[in-house]
Amino acid sequence: MNCNEFKSMIDSFLDGELDEKETTEFEIHFTSCNKCHIELESVDKCSKVLRKLLKSENPPQSIKDRVFREFEQDK
Ligand SMILES: [Zn+2]
Repeated sequence: MNCNEFKSMIDSFLDGELDEKETTEFEIHFTSCNKCHIELESVDKCSKVLRKLLKSENPPQSIKDRVFREFEQDK
């Protein structure tokens, strides 16, 4: 997934319209791409995305750990 694809999927993600594979790709991009991370924060969708990621049924523990770590560092 590239940054443009990620951006185009944000709304679908928040609406729960992505399938399992797309959701995984979305999560991976979100946690690995600093640019999109920063951009999401700037558009105030980050908290919604994060909440949704952490609430998803079976998020990979590695992604959870990574997201938490990154947000801890931002404080
Ligand atoms: Zn990106």
